[in-house]
Amino acid sequence: MSYYEFTIKIPDAFRDKLIQRLTDAGCLGVIEQDEAITAYFPETVDIGAITGDLSLLNTLLEKSGQVRGLFFSHALIPEQDWNESWKKGFLPIDVGERFTILPPWEKMRDGRINLVIDPGMAFGTGHHETTRSCLVLMDAYADAGAKERFLDLGTGTGLLAIAASRLGYRHIVAVDTDPLAVDATKTNCDLNQVDGIEIHEGSIADLHETYDFITANIISGVLVQITPSLPSHLKPGGIAVLSGILKGQENEVIEAITKAGLKLIEHYKDGKWVSLVIGH
Ligand code: SAH
Repeated sequence: MSYYEFTIKIPDAFRDKLIQRLTDAGCLGVIEQDEAITAYFPETVDIGAITGDLSLLNTLLEKSGQVRGLFFSHALIPEQDWNESWKKGFLPIDVGERFTILPPWEKMRDGRINLVIDPGMAFGTGHHETTRSCLVLMDAYADAGAKERFLDLGTGTGLLAIAASRLGYRHIVAVDTDPLAVDATKTNCDLNQVDGIEIHEGSIADLHETYDFITANIISGVLVQITPSLPSHLKPGGIAVLSGILKGQENEVIEAITKAGLKLIEHYKDGKWVSLVIGH
């Protein structure tokens, strides 16, 4: 089978929504890069419907006064090139001191914590700065505290929960409001032969335990909403990493953190993304 490869540029604030929309339209996988996203569709897709939808989105963005609208191009990739083209975007990457993220067809690296992720999933392939930031900060802070309970709020593909298991947390909870993320997390736990992660559809309001470490890599608007619930879920001495914040939007999250009576421990930047490390 041949595949369509779309290259799409869109303002960052709309990226997640676009990826969701592409996935709903039958997209097989997305590679996120700084400048653009690349999305793959089977050749059987209604190509007119996809290009029509993207053009419509562009018109809406321009009407809403976005300085940059949406740009896209697409090409049909013949079958023989497909495997290589697809795989090129998913090379193993080293993150922080210890982790390597790799797709299932690559060889595990000796001496590293290997995290295997099936890239047929929209978010959390480890190629995004915010996911990498969470891993770097887990790497930096985990060993300083207890490793009893870990919460991955907005788990996506389950990557951070799997990393927590590899770091030695005894009890790990992964939640996401999206049922597809719950399925993806189960698949990736199997791929990594990780057992015992508790996976639920839901959010922080559905949880009543306390945790030594919490990661929440979600957009700032959602982080502001969940922050008031963090103090009652974070153990004394515990660490929470809030990520997914675009530079320039960190103040609203910091304000929510201060209001909740929590302290900012570190302000970590990667590209145009900010992650906040907080504690009691
Ligand atoms: N933790 C992964 C995925 C982050 S993507 C990583 O770091 O790569 C963010 C995820 O948060 C998405 O899967 C989305 O469905 C989920 N999400 C969005 N709002 C949420 C909420 N209020 N509570 C829990 N999960 C949420």
